[in-house]
Amino acid sequence: MRKKIVAGNWKMNKTIDEAQLFIDDFKSKLDHSFSQITIIVGVPHTHVHMASSQLPSQINVSAQDCSSHERGAYTGEVSASMLSSAGASYVILGHSERRTYHAESNQIISEKVIRCIEQSLNVIFCCGEHLDQRIANNHFDAVRQQMIEGLFHLSAEQLQSVEIAYEPVWAIGTGKTATSEQAQEMHHYIRSIIASKYGEDTAQSLSIIYGGSCKPSNAKELFSKQDVDGGLIGGASLNTSDFINIIESAR
Ligand code: PEP
Repeated sequence: MRKKIVAGNWKMNKTIDEAQLFIDDFKSKLDHSFSQITIIVGVPHTHVHMASSQLPSQINVSAQDCSSHERGAYTGEVSASMLSSAGASYVILGHSERRTYHAESNQIISEKVIRCIEQSLNVIFCCGEHLDQRIANNHFDAVRQQMIEGLFHLSAEQLQSVEIAYEPVWAIGTGKTATSEQAQEMHHYIRSIIASKYGEDTAQSLSIIYGGSCKPSNAKELFSKQDVDGGLIGGASLNTSDFINIIESAR
């Protein structure tokens, strides 16, 4: 059976004190019935160590990016091995905000994926089309290209360390959510291209989560779809009640 995943992405939010308040509150609200769900909290690099030392082991801590280099003279960069040694078990890669504001290409993302896998880190690989691509009916091709260039250099074994987040760019932080039918259609398509490259068993075992204005009011409907295995949650993951509500929707 595929993993159900709910992953938060704090982006560039919360000071250490604010993160502490979140962690304390979150821990007090955690329920044993969540044990079948893989819960991930994606925090800024500066918070990885505190989050991983303070959250129960059931909760996975993710970074939001890493360097494509192993080590060396790359001022300001943080390597996969540093993130691993700080306690991260996941890294979000290829988020549309990285692609847009930092001009991250599929090639760079493919190198980052390898750096993470070398360090036994799991990857949440983000893909998704822009609004103009959807309007022009190019959304399937756009996502296919991101997958082929960013991910398909992996072996089937390496792919087991990857979860895919389908995040239509027009839905991220805009309040506009894809309908559950649109999400299902794309998730099914993503699974089909994985099946054609890696085989049906691999495609069926890989979790594909949805991101883009997912919130307590729409999470259950989105997660009810056959190929939607949970969500990557931005804004609504900053608040413990909303985040827990969304986790409950994945049960
Ligand atoms: C995200 O940043 O991955 C995201 C899905 O953001 P939001 O939920 O705020 O749209």
